[in-house]
Amino acid sequence: MGLVRRVAVGALAATVVFCVATAGGAEKNEGAPRDFRGQEHAPPDLAKLPLVVLDPGHGGPDTGGVGPSGLTEAEVVWVVASELKLLLESERVARVVLTRSSQSNPSLAERTAMANGLGASLFVSLHGGAAFHPGAKGASVYLASEHGRAGHIVLNGSPPELFRPTRRRSKSSKGSPVRWEAVHAPHRAASHRACAAILAAFKNGGALEAHGLHEADLPVLQGSAMPACLVEVATLTHAPEEAALRQPSTRQALVETLFRGVRAALEAGR
Ligand SMILES: [Zn+2]
Repeated sequence: MGLVRRVAVGALAATVVFCVATAGGAEKNEGAPRDFRGQEHAPPDLAKLPLVVLDPGHGGPDTGGVGPSGLTEAEVVWVVASELKLLLESERVARVVLTRSSQSNPSLAERTAMANGLGASLFVSLHGGAAFHPGAKGASVYLASEHGRAGHIVLNGSPPELFRPTRRRSKSSKGSPVRWEAVHAPHRAASHRACAAILAAFKNGGALEAHGLHEADLPVLQGSAMPACLVEVATLTHAPEEAALRQPSTRQALVETLFRGVRAALEAGR
C-alpha cells in the first residue's frame, strides 16, 4: 500500500496553506506557525512534532528550468512540496511550513530567514534540476560547502536583521553582525547526515535515478541555522523525465521518496 493513500490527488489547491516570510513576524517560536492572516495553520495535535520548512524553489515570474515540452521547475516543485507537506502531516512525522505560495517568489535570504525565525528542525529546498547538458538526468542532493563564496558576497557591509537567525541568537550577540557563512557552520555535520539520508531514500527504491551527495556554494543553505539540504528532485530538461513528471504516478512516487528521506533526515539530523 502506498504511503500517499491519505492524500487526495487534485485536492491540493483547496488544502495547501500559504505562508509568507516576514522579517519581524517570526521572533517568537512558541506554538504553531501562523499564516499571513495570523491564523495557526498546524492542527493542535501537530504542535509537538518537529518543524520542517520546505522551500519550493523559484515561483511567480521565475519559472526556473523549463522542460522540452514546457513543464516548469516552479510548477513541479510546488506540487511536490505541497503533497509532501500533506503526507508528512497526515503521517504525523512533522509539521510543515512552505516558504512560498503557488505564485510568490521570495528572495533566497527571505526563505532561509523564515526557517531560522521559525526555529525549524530541518530545511529542505526543492528544485527541478534544469541541467545545461541535454543528456543529464536524475536526482541530486546538495549541502552547503564549508567555505562558500556566497557567504562572503552576502556579508559585504552589514547584514540586515532579516539575515539573522532569531532563535539561537544570544543576548551578548545582539547588535553585532552575524557572519552569514558562520550561521550554518555548527550544523554542517548534521546537514551531511540529513542530506545523506535523503539521498539514500532515492537510491533505495526512489522514484528516479539518483546521483551522489554534492557540496556547493548555495546561499539558500549557507545562512540556515539548522540542518539544511537542497534536493534536485529530477532533471526537467531530460525529455523522458519531464514526460514522467507529468504522470501523477511518478509524482506520487517522488513524494513518497522524499517522505522517506525527510523522515530519515529528521532522525539523522538530531
Ligand atoms: Zn532551481
